[in-house]
Amino acid sequence: MAGTITHLSSNSAELGEFAERILGLHGAEVEPVPGGSKVLLPTDLARRLEVPEWFALRWEDHDPTASDLEPSVRLHLGSALLERLFALNQERPVLVGATARVGYLKQSGFDRLLGETFHFPEARIASLHPAATTARYLWLGCRYVATSDEQREGLFRVFLGLDGALFTEEDQRRALFAIDLEYKKPALGGMEIEAILPLLEPRLRPIVERHVATFREQMERRLLRDLAGLRDYYRRTHRDMQAGLGRSTLNAELQATRQQKLASLPSDFANKRQDLLKKYTLTVTMRCCAALVLDLPVVKVAVALQRGRENLKQELTYQPLLKGFEPLRCRACGTATTVIAHCRQGHLLCPSCRPTAPCCH
Ligand SMILES: [Zn+2]
Ligand SMILES: [Zn+2]
Repeated sequence: MAGTITHLSSNSAELGEFAERILGLHGAEVEPVPGGSKVLLPTDLARRLEVPEWFALRWEDHDPTASDLEPSVRLHLGSALLERLFALNQERPVLVGATARVGYLKQSGFDRLLGETFHFPEARIASLHPAATTARYLWLGCRYVATSDEQREGLFRVFLGLDGALFTEEDQRRALFAIDLEYKKPALGGMEIEAILPLLEPRLRPIVERHVATFREQMERRLLRDLAGLRDYYRRTHRDMQAGLGRSTLNAELQATRQQKLASLPSDFANKRQDLLKKYTLTVTMRCCAALVLDLPVVKVAVALQRGRENLKQELTYQPLLKGFEPLRCRACGTATTVIAHCRQGHLLCPSCRPTAPCCH
């Protein structure tokens, strides 16, 4: 039966951070401690969440500061508290705005960094013009539910530029480690975030797919097992029925009924097989449950390139969280590339797309 077993998986620290953020937004005082946090809630919120007004929230097993005297609530995926936190923002994703504080923003040495990061086989770098500015990013927390014969759910998050450029998970980890946020009113509304989401769906699919890969394999194995069992059953039944028909003890009427049954076996089998395929079909839905609109100080570097007698321009973004340039993407195929070429119109191309320049067809 669908949905009978629910197994959940996610990084507990991410979950804790997510819970802290929602609690904070709804007026809770949250003080982080190792493996959890101490939480003081407004009376109304405590009632809605069905927890004490003051408690220790734990998402890791060992909290050295925890005393047995204080009430504590364990947070894990599938926990009642988390479900209630989700319910708090059922209508709209939790939306937070923040400016990242960057202790030091690189001001020079971009030529060297450029040489280490990108390679321009066709052009010569004529000049660089760095300019400090602010760029806007989105940090989305998403929840997925995968349903087949069983159900799996989990959380993942993505960090992306407003142009839709997605950062790798490795980059996200580095950025998260470095980030120091000052919260403020979000610069984008919930409507705008929701408008962006459908556009992102194709980019988010592969991420969700990685999360549910093991589950998918498991369901496929089970389907194969059940299909083999079904095939065996019908093969045996067919054989037994044919053997029965050969016996002379049956009268003509019984013979006819048996013949009919035998004839209907293939379509019975086909129906049962179809039922199995349906039972194990995997559907995955996802929803954004939290969004952080992040303004980040960056350095835009305008690069003037010379290719023969032609002048080309390329803009790079130095990202302090990554301590490097953001990846450049091929205009034609969208993959990140460090070997940079341009078509006649000046579109950025990766080495594989360079010969045919599909961007201009
Ligand atoms: Zn390409
Ligand atoms: Zn082009």
